[in-house]
Amino acid sequence: MELKCAVQTYAWGKLGMNSIVASLIKSANADFVVDEQKTYAELWMGTHENGPSYLKDTDIPLQKYIQENTVALGSNVVQTFCSNLPFLFKVLSINKALSIQVHPNKQKAKELHELYPDVYKDPNHKPELAIALSPFEALCGFRPIDEIKDYVNDIPELLAVIGETNVRRLTQTNDSMISDALQHSFHSLMTCDSNEVARQLRNLIDRLHNTDDCYRQRVKADLLERLHNDYPGDIGCFTIYLFNYVTMLPGEAIYIGPNVPHAYLSGDCIECMACSDNVIRAGLTPKPKDIETLIQVLSFECKSIEKIQPSREDTFTQVFRPPVSEFAVAKITLPPGQPSYNLKPRNSASILLIVNGKAKISSKIFSRGSVLFISANDKVEIKVLCGCHPMLMFQAFSNI
Ligand SMILES: [Zn+2]
Repeated sequence: MELKCAVQTYAWGKLGMNSIVASLIKSANADFVVDEQKTYAELWMGTHENGPSYLKDTDIPLQKYIQENTVALGSNVVQTFCSNLPFLFKVLSINKALSIQVHPNKQKAKELHELYPDVYKDPNHKPELAIALSPFEALCGFRPIDEIKDYVNDIPELLAVIGETNVRRLTQTNDSMISDALQHSFHSLMTCDSNEVARQLRNLIDRLHNTDDCYRQRVKADLLERLHNDYPGDIGCFTIYLFNYVTMLPGEAIYIGPNVPHAYLSGDCIECMACSDNVIRAGLTPKPKDIETLIQVLSFECKSIEKIQPSREDTFTQVFRPPVSEFAVAKITLPPGQPSYNLKPRNSASILLIVNGKAKISSKIFSRGSVLFISANDKVEIKVLCGCHPMLMFQAFSNI
């Protein structure tokens, strides 16, 4: 069943047809009008109430269809997640950085939702997986501690906003106390007076105009200038020295578990997550920040980030399986000339997105941008039309 999906026009999205979100929707819906002045940030495929999908032919909400046809979810899903689709599938198209954020674990999400239902809108955790569709940049998790120490030694403006006492503690503490020292430093950075933050950022940016290339490269001057241009005076600009800077090529992926700080900086990606919208923000945003909750939940583990490696299911399909039961994502690439492909039946409901190519599925034609809901255990044969380019699809399903 084809779905009609929601678009989020957040300010950080790419403009008009430059956004892969807009171009996918336009391709599958000829009457969709793309506004070149509008930012098309995210496509949401699923049942989350902030952007629910509908069955295209009947306009019935996917959530309603699922409630009335729970067999479509698969018995394992019903047993574990009741009559709900446990994941939310997305496409993101990023022009400028998203807010630095962290997602609480299940227990904390429940607590926060009970206390502040207007801010934390659902009681669920939000582990997430991002698979790059174009060259992609992100910040993710605290850097190995030696890298952080080098930066505070190299950058006096960073030292100034963290505070000398905290920096001394950070650089002199032994390994067993390091996460405690880092927590103090991070808290001090996040609660530093905003005028002082703006002043130190200005100082740093000015100083970088007159430093050599080697120093500029070491302190990631280009990245800092870009972030500062988009978010002038924002405390988040300093966090590039605390968090791992990760770049991904198309097809590479990272998994972000609960309590790990992260921010996507640029590029396009496929994203899948547990069905939730709970975000604790820390910077690179005009939206409210909740620093105390952030410090409570944050993981201060310092290590470099490893990309998540997919496993090969057959010649054409690779599967990314994060360590959670809510979701996994298959990347299916059919080479030019491949006439057809039988999708592997899944024991849960799944959502299939065509990113490139055109196909006939049970006598209907689906083009680039089409989104299909597939019931558990359904056998689906894809007949490729116009096989002169590779056909690329992503399929999200439950990892149970
Ligand atoms: Zn996130």
